[in-house]
Amino acid sequence: MGKTIDVMSLYPKDMNIYGDSGNVLTIRRRLELYGYEPRIHQYNQGDEWPDHIDMILGGGGQDTGQKKIIDDFFKRSDLLRSLAADGVPMLMICGLYQLFGEYFETVDGTRLEGIGIIGAHTVGQDVRMIGNLVERSDRFGDIIGYENHSGQTFLNEDVQPLGHVDQEGCGNNGEDHTEGARVHNVIGTYMHGSLLPKNPAISDFLIETAVTRRYGGFDTADQTPEQAAELARLDAVAASARKAAAARPR
Ligand code: GLN
Repeated sequence: MGKTIDVMSLYPKDMNIYGDSGNVLTIRRRLELYGYEPRIHQYNQGDEWPDHIDMILGGGGQDTGQKKIIDDFFKRSDLLRSLAADGVPMLMICGLYQLFGEYFETVDGTRLEGIGIIGAHTVGQDVRMIGNLVERSDRFGDIIGYENHSGQTFLNEDVQPLGHVDQEGCGNNGEDHTEGARVHNVIGTYMHGSLLPKNPAISDFLIETAVTRRYGGFDTADQTPEQAAELARLDAVAASARKAAAARPR
């Protein structure tokens, strides 16, 4: 039996659009193929939180979904902040990225407080920012996905973006060419797609960080030759998906 890794899918009922649940499937599959034993948990409003979690994945949602989860989300904010401070790797897409910031003022003027793990704020506008997107990141290479949001996110000065977009993409706000944010092991981004199947470098960052935190190091000692071959096949599929997605018109 491989070593267990506990992965939390955060608010999958209300915060999961444009295939974001594919991120959970990708992490599960890659963990298995590296020889680990993924245990996937789901947390929706009112659920119990398990004793131990190694990684947290959250998706996007419309403003209405964000309003639905916000009260419960606040009840969990201390917990999430302390896990983030402890270095638990997290990936938050779009709607949850916005709520991991300091606040989100929606286009109808409602102000939703965020939990402030990411030093950023978001303001809704009338025009939506939609399209296929390639962003450049020093740490992860080209990141390939799809954005669809009305919120404009502005990072505080000391916050590192996940990457940069060129003239065609909007990214965080359509103005400063930044996209997403990275704070310690927490990644926030507007990239749907799903993101992780097409971006194995980010999947592996999350996996290696989670495994190293729990077991003191990452290795593939329990990986079978069949698993290694299947992982290589998946990587080849990801490479051709990246090529096809990057060539798509915006
Ligand atoms: N409601 C947010 C916005 O439109 C998030 C949308 C999303 O998660 N795709 O800005």
